[in-house]
Amino acid sequence: MPEVEGFYIQTGYCGHLHLPELCVAYHGNVGGFEERLETVEQKIAAACRRAGRAREDVQLMGVSKMHPAESLAEAARAGMRLFGENRVQEFEAKRARLAKLGVEDTAVHLIGHLQSNKTAKAAEIFDGVDSVDSVRVAERLNEAAGKMGKRLPVLVEIKLSDEPNKTGLAPEDSELRSLLERLPELPHLAMRGLMTIAPLDENPETARACFRRLRALRESLGQKHAGLDFRELSMGMSGDFEIAIEEGSTLVRIGTALFGARAVAG
Ligand SMILES: *Cc1c(COP(=O)(O)O)cnc(C)c1O
Repeated sequence: MPEVEGFYIQTGYCGHLHLPELCVAYHGNVGGFEERLETVEQKIAAACRRAGRAREDVQLMGVSKMHPAESLAEAARAGMRLFGENRVQEFEAKRARLAKLGVEDTAVHLIGHLQSNKTAKAAEIFDGVDSVDSVRVAERLNEAAGKMGKRLPVLVEIKLSDEPNKTGLAPEDSELRSLLERLPELPHLAMRGLMTIAPLDENPETARACFRRLRALRESLGQKHAGLDFRELSMGMSGDFEIAIEEGSTLVRIGTALFGARAVAG
């Protein structure tokens, strides 16, 4: 499909969220994990060069949701150390399997919405929660982490689009302010920054505008809440990570481009 490839190369944008079959053609859902990782790594390196940034300033998280523990194990063998999962129960089952497969030295963060009745389990099985979006969830995570003698790194999830089923806190939401005021008082949570999901849009510039807003929000919140650490800007997924890196992302969350298409939307 040369014209399809031409389209993507020309625009530098993967529209897989809208055209999954073309995404698979583009990302090469065939072939091994290592090849896909190599392709993603090359794109990350190129985006860093365009933005005048060092490769070490951008962490790569493999989003393994909906893929079996064996896929994580393969990725870990290829050198991936950071994973993202979006459901507590799904990862609880996978975690047992990972232990059997002998996978260690990896960190797995929760990147999906957390219900307050699952905070204890989340604090137990995850190495970080990148989707904190309420005072209640933060307080419960803090309590659970304290009981386990852990200090859990967290990100606050920000919602920058009006899509109805998007999670996260809008910048103008008073809950965001309450959460940022409460976090310094929660000794078992280590605030590390902000996370967002860009809106679905054919036009890559929509994602760019969203990433710019998150970066600007970090600046203004950093001034208002000087005691909090905002070092991480977790933004960018398979379809928009190169733009996210150009706009200052420090952590890209990549599922499809590394693990292939998911059987069910997650
Ligand atoms: C699924 C998911 C991703 C990865 O999405 P891809 O488009 O497959 O790369 C990243 N972040 C979050 C929060 C997700 O739920």
